[in-house]
Amino acid sequence: MDYEAVIGLEVHVEISTASKVFCGCANDFHAPPNTNVCPICLGMPGVLPVLNRAMVEASVAVGLALDCTISRWSKMDRKNYFYPDQSKNYQISQYDLPLCHDGHLDIEVGGETKRIRIRRAHMEEDTARNVHTLGAGESGVDFNRCGVSLLEIVTEPDIHSAEEAHAYLTALKQILEYLDVSDCNMEEGSLRAEPNISIRPVGTEELGTKSEVKNVASFSGVQKAIEFEIKRHKKILDDGGEVQQETRGWDADKGVTLAQRMKESAHDYRYFPEPDLVPIVVDEAWEESIRETLPELPLARRARIREAHTLSELDAGVITATKPMADFFEATLSAGAPAKQAANWLMGDFQALLGDAKIEIQDGKINPKQLAEMIALIENATISGKIAKDVLADMFESGKDPKVLVEEKGLVQISDVGELESMVRDVIENNPGPVADFRGGKNQAKGFLVGQVMKATKGKGNPQLVNKILDEALKKP
Ligand SMILES: [Zn+2]
Repeated sequence: MDYEAVIGLEVHVEISTASKVFCGCANDFHAPPNTNVCPICLGMPGVLPVLNRAMVEASVAVGLALDCTISRWSKMDRKNYFYPDQSKNYQISQYDLPLCHDGHLDIEVGGETKRIRIRRAHMEEDTARNVHTLGAGESGVDFNRCGVSLLEIVTEPDIHSAEEAHAYLTALKQILEYLDVSDCNMEEGSLRAEPNISIRPVGTEELGTKSEVKNVASFSGVQKAIEFEIKRHKKILDDGGEVQQETRGWDADKGVTLAQRMKESAHDYRYFPEPDLVPIVVDEAWEESIRETLPELPLARRARIREAHTLSELDAGVITATKPMADFFEATLSAGAPAKQAANWLMGDFQALLGDAKIEIQDGKINPKQLAEMIALIENATISGKIAKDVLADMFESGKDPKVLVEEKGLVQISDVGELESMVRDVIENNPGPVADFRGGKNQAKGFLVGQVMKATKGKGNPQLVNKILDEALKKP
């Protein structure tokens, strides 16, 4: 039988508010264990939490970017459960009245745009972190993370393949980064995605029993876990079995999901309104003031940059992949560089240097003005494109201006016709074989001769001039 996969995604995003969501403790992932804690986030009896205004504003911003309706009135609820990483035995979350609901995110898969509906985005507090790597069979709990601002974004089951799930996560992360509300660092757990997967015979409407996968630390892991689950469900159904509703963990090393526990239903959590927090009222004026702070979002920016500079879809996509990259590109153009050249350098050599050094563009030593200057040096024939590659690598290392480097290292291109003519004469004299080949009709022999002249100039010959002078010299008998 042919099946169709039906996938929903729950994404937890740690919002980078300076302090935690209900107390004044710092939100700092790198602090030593259990140093950013207080009676409130430890859940001592009698304490009173206060909702962080910056968290509400960041959450509304995400909601607006996802075309959600923002609730005029919502509240926080207690989700009751016992687990070592939740010392007060309940998590403050939102149950029936989420802050944001009924939005959507458009993704592109295989050249087609597809709309994924967002069911809700609600605020909650993160849990502490269980650490099982202390050795000697010991585990610890780090409460620094307990109470960190967390936004959970839930889709409708509109996703039908692992590829679509990957595209959704990529587009969502891009929006979160553009909004600058989270560092989205998956390795540090700032962004966690949990897919739920079911399958049904093609052409039927009724949803199959779903399994939910946790502990996936990368987008490619999500993709693989979904592929694994689809196959697993198919096998169970084809063998006449029944899929169990359960939570499974992803084992990245083995590439399999493993049963963890039977999936709870909402009623297992005995939700009730959090009595220590007042309702959240976001009136139209507040919502509008947040809307005004929204930056140009990735899709819009990509379209604008592509049209304004006649770049290809692919180039525009790479240039706008991250906000810092798009900002860098536009600042390079403001500093006078032509769009196509700026795009080529950014996507080519510059990107490679960043990749090798494992840093992001905003953390590098080169600024947009310097890149524009370097491109100008090529455009006005001071250096060749080939030399520019070395100059860029030096700039990347030292942060020095390209002009300074070109002077320091004597890299100015040789455009002196007399000097080049004499080098060309020497090359022709010393290479009678290739010269005869060329004159006999073998055009590829010219490439060798150009190479010899460039070698004589130590790579600094102006390539257009070298070609021109060589052509003329070869015409002479
Ligand atoms: Zn605290």
